[in-house]
Amino acid sequence: MNCIFCNVAAGNTPADIVYQDDEVVAFRDIHPQAPTHILVIPRRHIATVNELDAADTQLAGRLILTAKRIAADLGFAENGYRLVMNTNRDGGQTVFHIHLHLLAGRHCHWPPG
Ligand code: 5GP
Ligand code: ZN
Repeated sequence: MNCIFCNVAAGNTPADIVYQDDEVVAFRDIHPQAPTHILVIPRRHIATVNELDAADTQLAGRLILTAKRIAADLGFAENGYRLVMNTNRDGGQTVFHIHLHLLAGRHCHWPPG
């Protein structure tokens, strides 16, 4: 399997990594959609949110808590930020290894495009 985010997690594809541990990796998006745009991924390959199951409850929470901590560390907790997971075609997913987008540093509009 040739998955770009598995390669980032394995250290085989260069990325601007801001945090990593045994379960998750966070790195800057190559095409940022906000002044700060970070992707938080599990090291384990999971293609879409549809493939998450009950056994992944802790891992899914870990993605959110990791993004929360990075946002706080970078000073965005009070002004705020947006966390997004796109799923399949209508969600606009283009990389099929789940990732939580952390967008910060500008006002995010609602509804999103
Ligand atoms: P999606 O559209 O699947 O929700 O988000 C995929 C994101 O991955 C996009 O924001 C895109 O810019 C980013 N991306 C795609 N390829 C790479 C890469 O090789 N490195 C990094 N850092 N980000 C990537
Ligand atoms: Zn993968």
